[in-house]
Amino acid sequence: MAFEMPNTKQRTEAIGPAEGSAQDLRKALDPAGQFEPLPPPGPHDWLAAHPESGQSFEQFVRSRPNRPDAKRHVIYLQPLGDFPVGKAPPENLLREYAAAWFAMDTRVLPRLALSDASLTTRRNPTTQNRQLLTPDILALLKKKIPEDAFCLLGITMEDLYPDPSWNFVFGQASLRERVGVYSFARYDPAFYGRPRGPDYEKTLLRRSGKVLVHETAHMFGLQHCIYFRCVLNGSNHLAESDARPMHECPVDLHKLHYSIGFDVAKRYATLLRFSDKAGFTDERDWTWARLDWILGEAAARELIERTAGNP
Ligand SMILES: [Zn+2]
Ligand SMILES: [Zn+2]
Repeated sequence: MAFEMPNTKQRTEAIGPAEGSAQDLRKALDPAGQFEPLPPPGPHDWLAAHPESGQSFEQFVRSRPNRPDAKRHVIYLQPLGDFPVGKAPPENLLREYAAAWFAMDTRVLPRLALSDASLTTRRNPTTQNRQLLTPDILALLKKKIPEDAFCLLGITMEDLYPDPSWNFVFGQASLRERVGVYSFARYDPAFYGRPRGPDYEKTLLRRSGKVLVHETAHMFGLQHCIYFRCVLNGSNHLAESDARPMHECPVDLHKLHYSIGFDVAKRYATLLRFSDKAGFTDERDWTWARLDWILGEAAARELIERTAGNP
């Protein structure tokens, strides 16, 4: 079965009912010309290989997803192995980005050295690079999950494999156990023997940040987005993930808001500050336009000022 493109009516319905929501949320759920429909997939793109039918806001609510509560409300990141300066996205920036994106308390656990972790490793039979076995990592994380964790996510610059018969895997998660692990190794051009280029650190942070929020959003029960260009779009290859924006569409904003209950304008203001600092000018400009649309220019400026020094 081939992928069927949703039409405008289906996209609007997927966002779900905004009536009865506060004014800010109602405006934020209105696409208002700032969200492009996802274009039809090319032959090698995700939706050509996986013709998904999408998950509307109402389908999401009916799936009774895990939601943060008074007991479990912290996103934990567990670095596995080294994050060499200049060759890996800085852990503190990844933490800051996830904290802003989910508007949740996000903490980094002390780095776990591979020598202390007793994980199964191998050399990839083709490329000869070292790889870690993901089921071992998930078992380890399950034992370490803190009492107040909504989820615990292993992050690593090591390459991963899920089973000896596989070549590699970008990541793996168990929603039920609330643990996952993701590798950023293949987002580094050097992994493929290519030069890193002048904007390399910014590119690596952008790619890693996107993967982190995409995969963490799956832990909240959000499935892939087929409606708009969105960070929740599935991806089959690097060019396709690079084409995804860092932000979510109104369908996924509605889901996140249902789960987390943040102040939408404050969240955008915090994200704008982050994009500004990280030099993601396209995202900064997009977020500014969104805030302007939701609050009006004067109130948007005032909120951004107030958000300064309060990340
Ligand atoms: Zn995904
Ligand atoms: Zn979306």
